[in-house]
Amino acid sequence: MVKSDTSLPDLVAAREADLVALCQDLIRIPTLNPPGLHYRNICDMLGARLRDGGWDVELIRAVDTPGDSDTYPRWNMVARYDSGRPGETVHFNSHHDVVEVGHGWTRDPFGGELDKGRVYGRGACDMKGGLAASVIAAEAFVAAHPEFAGAIEISATADEETGGYGGVAYLAELGRFDPERVQHVIIPEPLNKDRICLGHRGVWWAEIETRGRIAHGSMPFLGDSAVRHMGAVLAEMEATLFPLLASKETAMPVVPEGAKNSTLNINSIHGGEREQDPGYTGLPAPVVPDRCRIIIDRRFLIEENIEDVKAEVRGMLEKIKATRPNFEYEVRELFEVIPSMTDEDAPVVRSTAAAIERVLGRMPDYVVSPGTYDQKHIDRIGRLKNCIAYGPGILDLAHQPDEWVGVQDMVDSAGVMALVLEDLLIAPR
Ligand SMILES: [Zn+2]
Repeated sequence: MVKSDTSLPDLVAAREADLVALCQDLIRIPTLNPPGLHYRNICDMLGARLRDGGWDVELIRAVDTPGDSDTYPRWNMVARYDSGRPGETVHFNSHHDVVEVGHGWTRDPFGGELDKGRVYGRGACDMKGGLAASVIAAEAFVAAHPEFAGAIEISATADEETGGYGGVAYLAELGRFDPERVQHVIIPEPLNKDRICLGHRGVWWAEIETRGRIAHGSMPFLGDSAVRHMGAVLAEMEATLFPLLASKETAMPVVPEGAKNSTLNINSIHGGEREQDPGYTGLPAPVVPDRCRIIIDRRFLIEENIEDVKAEVRGMLEKIKATRPNFEYEVRELFEVIPSMTDEDAPVVRSTAAAIERVLGRMPDYVVSPGTYDQKHIDRIGRLKNCIAYGPGILDLAHQPDEWVGVQDMVDSAGVMALVLEDLLIAPR
């Protein structure tokens, strides 16, 4: 088989109006998560389009996953275009959920407004622009190369913004990312059209609770303040743990620069009497707090072992316990993700890099995300390592007011995706 003379990126560019319209249509379905609105609608809309184009379309509800209910069912769409000829399968996976709108918008967050080369709306860059680009890329490729070998899959999945358990994790459990079935995965998250995201750092969330004894606030010596014990924990973190984390630096190409170090955020702190509801005009009660809790969000590097990450925190608490009278604590683990990083020599990386060079005339940057995304499930549950994030849009705009995606960025990245299909499903390898 030979490549056609007409450049595939030009054929993609000729579909710009269709690409913009599809992106707008996706934005106009407000798939807010939480709680998980209109998932079925967006799956139906995309599924109908692809079915009309000859794709096999399945709608899969992630029954009994977190958040799934008859009111808010977790629907996913998986479409497959099988050439009927033996070959590999390339899968484009996008999450269809978006985060809350928040304040500060000057545009209609669900209007899909097109203005001066940008499409605005919640989810425009994260990641309905990328989803639309992958659909257009696949459609243009199939039209240009009906003789291709192998198969293309496009999925639109639920709940990435809340962990992906009702989306990619569920599909991975069903075997949908088994390397026997799928060989290459591209997740069109908004990493910029000239960057290939190889993976992400790891995560460990835990709740630390300190214990004390309740007493009257006028006689605190009769009690034992859990808040003061927590103060000792925070002081020890400042003195030893934060400097230790800042001294660890990864060889992973993490962006932004600050995320090359290990990090820890204290998400919340609660202790003593709970805050009164707005409008309550009474005074607080004088009570020594007997419980104090913080939630920590530790992000770790591929060079770190998760057991060591946990041991650092437990070791710090034991050190305090050894010197501080009556110090009692408990650690409750909440969530963990192991770092994931695809090799730069992996086939989907090499193919995407070559395509970026052809479309944009420069070599890509390789990056690693500070936070996780659905690649974790494809790697850990699906056992598929040949996976990247690549898509249009500027990551900093994600979750912001007046979120937008550039039309030219969508066109260019769709051109790249189409060339990847040409490389993997046509060119001799
Ligand atoms: Zn996203």
